[in-house]
Amino acid sequence: MTQPVKKYRIAIVGAGPAGYFTAQAFQKAQTEDLIFEIDLIEKLPTPWGLVRSGVAPDHQKIKTVSKVFEKIAMEPNFRLFANVEIGKDVSLKDLRDQYDVVVLATGASIGRKIGIPGEDLKNSLSAAEFVPWYNAHPDFVEVEIDLSTDTAVVIGAGNVAMDIARILAIDPSELDPTDIAEHAIAKLKQSNIRKVIICGRRGPEHAAFTVLELRNLLELENTEVFIDSKQIDEAIKRTLDMGEVEKDLKNNIEAMRNIAIRVKKDVFRKLEIKFLSTPFEIKGQGKVEEIIFQKSKIENGKIIKTNDSFSIKAGLVISAIGYDSIEIPGITVESGRINNIAGHVERNVYTVGWAKRGPTGLIGTNKSDSNDVVDLIIENLKEPKKTDGIVKLLKAGHEVINQQAWDKINHQEISNGKIRNKPRSKISSKSELIQISKQIVQK
Ligand code: NAP
Repeated sequence: MTQPVKKYRIAIVGAGPAGYFTAQAFQKAQTEDLIFEIDLIEKLPTPWGLVRSGVAPDHQKIKTVSKVFEKIAMEPNFRLFANVEIGKDVSLKDLRDQYDVVVLATGASIGRKIGIPGEDLKNSLSAAEFVPWYNAHPDFVEVEIDLSTDTAVVIGAGNVAMDIARILAIDPSELDPTDIAEHAIAKLKQSNIRKVIICGRRGPEHAAFTVLELRNLLELENTEVFIDSKQIDEAIKRTLDMGEVEKDLKNNIEAMRNIAIRVKKDVFRKLEIKFLSTPFEIKGQGKVEEIIFQKSKIENGKIIKTNDSFSIKAGLVISAIGYDSIEIPGITVESGRINNIAGHVERNVYTVGWAKRGPTGLIGTNKSDSNDVVDLIIENLKEPKKTDGIVKLLKAGHEVINQQAWDKINHQEISNGKIRNKPRSKISSKSELIQISKQIVQK
């Protein structure tokens, strides 16, 4: 006897890398009698999540992963519902009723706070505001940022801090052939910033930078990168004392050492990385003027705060110390991520990506992570429901951006970019994006 065909409706919320890789995992798991109808729901009028609004514009190669997303979108069992917000346009409860499975791929978009006095002063920003600002995210176009100071400080020793420091420190003309937001490049071209200092609270051996990003610093043409070679020598000694050193750590330290010992270039743009520096106060009359740090030392592998402090006079400070997930009504967020066990939240609700595991890992990390969660979902599947999916949940006239509508936006941005020798010229206004998505294509 042949098995009856089972067809399941899957709603994935959030069209970033984790959402797309989840859709792909469902597509790969399909068989003749196990069918998945996948609806990818996205709050913004545009898909691709952090590939569009997170990855730095001078890292265009990383963005080529969007080609994979477009391939996933071409499959007949995939539909895009962009410009649809959960909790506003559709409730999570309705989604769970209408779908066999709901997967929350909603990321982590709230910038963590350092929790020190002065953090709320003007020109003290979070990576969660600055990064989407330079990447043309429609909700961050109006972020107020003053680049008239000569020095900026970036708190945190991870790849996001590094992206931010590079964008502030390099000659803005290097960003001309990229898809950086028009408003951001215009402002960066007026910037007076000539020195950017990244401050990590622990040692070089604890930095969260990855080696490619560190090596990339040596290739900057118009910016000198500094690391105190004494801090690196001490880190090398400490890591050797620890015994066997892991390959990634060894490579990172070597890359930092190459920066520290390099013959200095004669350029006036500087990017410095300081370690063992914990911020404890941001000072200024109404706006950021100075950041006070407490120095730390490392003894027997432990970070010990000393009584020594130092200050950096800087008119801009950006903290890049990680992100928390947004609250979704009916879902518990704990320690910045959605409460879950191996991706299972409760009943037919699951989570993937940063919403599931916190803000860690590279884009590719989401692929294996989504595969694992989809395996678990398939194990837990019950009899399929007979429902209508999202269409009946949306108010009449709601402007959904489907794949065809997104294709129009995508083509428009690429052709606008071509004229200016850019990979694309991003549109950052929601109403303009929606307008373009409705244009009739002339054949
Ligand atoms: P991250 O890698 O976790 O780094 C966060 C940094 O903030 C750490 O150095 C951490 O120090 C520091 N920090 C945390 N709390 C602090 C506090 N209260 N005061 C001072 N410093 C504090 O996070 P991320 O940079 O946001 O990156 C998120 C993920 O995206 C990472 O996996 C990253 O690799 C990835 N990413 C990749 C790329 C790329 O491939 N090019 C680009 C951007 C982001 P401690 O270690 O002491 O906690």
